[in-house]
Parts: sequence; structure tokens; C-alpha cells
Amino acid sequence: MALKLYNYYSRKIEEFKPIGNVVGLYTCGPTVYDNVHIGNWRTFVFEDVLKRVLTFNGYELKHVMNLTDIDDKIIKKAHNLKVNYREITNKYADAFFEDLKKLNIIPANAYPRATETKYMKQMISMISILLKSGFAYSGDDGIYFSVEKFTTYGKLSGLDKKNLKKGARVNDDEYDKENWTDFALWKFKRESEPSWEAPFGEGRPGWHIECSAMSTLELGDTFDIHTGGVDLLFPHHENEIAQSEAATGKKFVHYWMEGEHLQVDSAKMAKRDGNVYTLVDIAQKGFEPLAMRYLFLTAHYRSKLNFTWESLASAKNALNNIRQNLSFYKEKDFSQDRIVSSFRNAIDDDLNMPRAVAVFHEALKSGVSKVELLKMDEVLGLELADTQEQKLPTGAQKLLDQREAARAAGNFGKSDELREVLMKMGVEVEDTTDGPKWKVKNDTSY
Ligand code: AMP
Ligand code: ZN
Repeated sequence: MALKLYNYYSRKIEEFKPIGNVVGLYTCGPTVYDNVHIGNWRTFVFEDVLKRVLTFNGYELKHVMNLTDIDDKIIKKAHNLKVNYREITNKYADAFFEDLKKLNIIPANAYPRATETKYMKQMISMISILLKSGFAYSGDDGIYFSVEKFTTYGKLSGLDKKNLKKGARVNDDEYDKENWTDFALWKFKRESEPSWEAPFGEGRPGWHIECSAMSTLELGDTFDIHTGGVDLLFPHHENEIAQSEAATGKKFVHYWMEGEHLQVDSAKMAKRDGNVYTLVDIAQKGFEPLAMRYLFLTAHYRSKLNFTWESLASAKNALNNIRQNLSFYKEKDFSQDRIVSSFRNAIDDDLNMPRAVAVFHEALKSGVSKVELLKMDEVLGLELADTQEQKLPTGAQKLLDQREAARAAGNFGKSDELREVLMKMGVEVEDTTDGPKWKVKNDTSY
């Protein structure tokens, strides 16, 4: 079975066919003005899983994730705190990179920042082209993109043309999610705001053009996959298509993938409701980030996921059970093809991770080889290769063997005695239907 992905542009599941030898992937990154929250992390983990599935399928990748380091929100915060905006963006970019590691997210090949000279140049050049070809016009406070001129505007988000507010313009980076309005490509200099020189007037870029410029400069005019969270479908991704295709005259992206949102206690995350959690909040409640990653894997990326502390506690238990199983794992000799191909079928079916996790549990129970399990974990990303095999203290194996012999001979008094001795050595023995299992007490490997 070939890899199949849901493409928002066609609203269909399609077989993935890359343009060239290296798959070009662009993912909208964080706006670095605050700590990244668990909703954002859901999207970033979905993108990480996508990369791992592509790699599992043998593809080579170039992954670019931008950092939005200039926009309305950043400027507002810098103004309120009376600091240079770079103090804010540097601080939160560093925090973002720290958290990425904790969630075992594979780093991108490039993390372009909008304010870097080469990207700013690319934005200015794209806007100049759009002005020349009449897709853009100069307003009193900035350069605007005329959505009416771009005939396929609205195709990605499926919004109806009747929503077009003729002549209406927005200067805000985030606006009306229902209506079409011309949007700002460039905002003319306002007092005390950072600005850059441009032939059409000093100012700063709008948020949407940033992604069009960074993606095309890094990946070319046309590339394979573009992702983000569903909230970006309109207007952000719609606008990216309009600007890029109007400027280059070429198809911008082949596959659009959008991750559904994370809710908290069945509600939208909102600062005023106090339910916007970060990895720091998670750690304070005694949860490791990888438990959060496991929780994300239990829902399909196109379904909403409702976060509760109980669901995180279950995820933590499930992850610890996997580790415990692996720490005294016994491989069994049998044909593993069925399980291995079920896993592949699940991930190739538009990243069906809940099914893949179920297959992984089945594989663990049936005694699939450790090599195969760890291959599966290359996709799950739960760092299971680091699970320590538990080592018995000297002499303990001999006592375990003697206890087995005593049990086999029906001498349960003797076997209980030996269990006590082992206990004093720090080895806990439990008799299960699969025979006795042991665990080293105070083992901190899980
Ligand atoms: P932002 O920093 O707000 O631009 O968001 C960074 C990424 O997180 C974008 O891809 C958003 O679509 C995504 N995102 C924002 N809120 C949520 C949420 N509650 N659940 C899932 N993804 C989200
Ligand atoms: Zn973007």
C-alpha cells in the first residue's frame, strides 16, 4: 500500500506523489511572543509524525519551519513592556527550541526568521511584482492584495465568493474568519514601530507574505507539502496561495494538511479562561512531556482532541507500561509479517496513529522482535530505545532458577522463602500466567 494523505485542497485522500527526490515540507511555526502552549504542540507533534512517516516510507526531506518574529502581537507586547521586540522574540525562540527536544521532535532543516535580510528582500521583491502585475495596490496605510483579482481565491478554505466584502480592507494580521477582504502585504511605517526600507515605502511586512517569502526562497516556487493548524486555513493559508501563485504564475503547493485543534475540558483554549497550558505547567503537575506526546498519538490529527488531566494521567500510565514491558522483554519466535504490515498500513492510511499505537501494543504482547518494535518507535517517537534493560544483582539469577525449580516441584514453602531473599536483594518477583516476572526495585529507568 502506498502512502495516502488527506489533501485539504482537493478535500480528498490522495496517494502521495512527490515532485522530486527530496520532499519539500513547509510548516507554519510559532509566533515567538509567548511560551508555546499544548495546542500548538499538538500541531507540531502532528507535523513531526508526518515527517517520521515520510522517512519510514523511504523519502528524503527538506523541512522548513518559520519563526514569526515580527507581527502585530509581538509589536504590541514589546510596546507594553517597553523593550525592543528582539528581546521578546529571542527569549521565546530559545524556549521553543528547548521544548522541541523534550517532546522528541526532530528538528527542521531550517528555521528562517522573517526579519532576516534575505527573507525581507524576498518579501519586498514579491510585493514589487504584485504591484506591477496589478494584484496589489497602494492604500493610505499600506500595500494591499486585491482578493477579487485572484480568481481561485477561496478554493482552499471552501468559503463562498458571496462573502467578498468589496473594497473592504484589513490591516490587522489576524482578522475576520468569515469575510473576504483585501489584506495588507506591507504596512507603512508607524511611529516607534520597527521598519524596513522598500521602493514602495518604508514599513514592515504583513504576516501572510512572510510565509510565502520564506517558503519559496527555501523550497522553490512549487513544493510538496504545507501544513499548520486548521485555524490557519483561512485567511492565512488562503492568502499564502493567492500571493505566491499571483507572483510566480505557478502552482504553490501540492498537498495542504491541517491539524485539528486541541481543546481543554471541551472548551477552546483562551488566556482569560486560564486553560492555556504549557510544558512548564505539565511538568509542575508531575507529567513528563513524552506522556503528552503519547496522548497526542491517541487521536487522529484530523479529529479534535479534548485534553483533561485524567487523559494525561492515562497516557502516562500507558507509556510507563510500555517501558516496563520493554525493560524485561522476551522476544518470541514467530512470523511477524502480519503485525509489521498492519503497522505500516495504519501509518500510510493518512497517519492513522491511534490504529498504529494499538498495533504497537499488540506487537509488544505477541513478542515481536525488539528490532521491529524500535523501528515502529522511529515513527511514534517515544524514545523507547533508551529504555534500560533491567540488570539483576549478582547471584539473583541463581536464586530465581532455584525458585523456579522449587515451584515446579510443588515446594511452595521453599519458593516463598526464596522470594523473600530476592526481595531483600531488591528484586521483586511476580508470578504471572506467562511465568514469573522480576523487577528491580528503585529502578529509576522509568
Ligand atoms: P501561532 O503561534 O498562534 O501562529 O500557532 C502556531 C501553530 O499552532 C499553528 O499551526 C496553529 O494553527 C497551531 N495552533 C494554535 N492553537 C492550536 C490549538 N488549540 N490546537 C492545535 N493547534 C493549534
Ligand atoms: Zn504561515
